[in-house]
Amino acid sequence: MPLIVDDVAMRAALHEAARAEQSGDVPIGAVVLDAAGSVIGRGHNIRERDGDPTGHAELVALRGAAQATGEWRLDGCTLVVTLEPCTMCAGAVVLSRLDRLVFGAYDAKAGAVGSLWDVVRDRRLNHRPEVVGGVLAEECSALLDDFFAHQRLG
Ligand SMILES: [Zn+2]
Repeated sequence: MPLIVDDVAMRAALHEAARAEQSGDVPIGAVVLDAAGSVIGRGHNIRERDGDPTGHAELVALRGAAQATGEWRLDGCTLVVTLEPCTMCAGAVVLSRLDRLVFGAYDAKAGAVGSLWDVVRDRRLNHRPEVVGGVLAEECSALLDDFFAHQRLG
């Protein structure tokens, strides 16, 4: 079940997403919350900015959270991201041992948390986080739609 706090955290992720556009990056944003609900990592897509194929919002936020805690293991934490994670980021969610994953819009073309694959809930894995999808989905996808519409015009 989506929680009110998920909406609040998604607004923070949306705020991050908007920052990606400064560098011409696709507006996807993410935050990591600790068990108490405090933001300990944040990130937006920096693939264009850094010329980095792994510069996805989720990985930037997870790295920030790991740096903040000094631990690679992020159990007790929640990752909140505006778009359904890809295979790489879904893999990182499993490897970081997060408790929860909350995402906004579904990604029918590349989503790996239910759309094309379901990496994080694969029963062959020992660690499977709780997943909540579709939180503020319309706002999350509107940001992406606007970005791509402007790209086509420009
Ligand atoms: Zn990704």
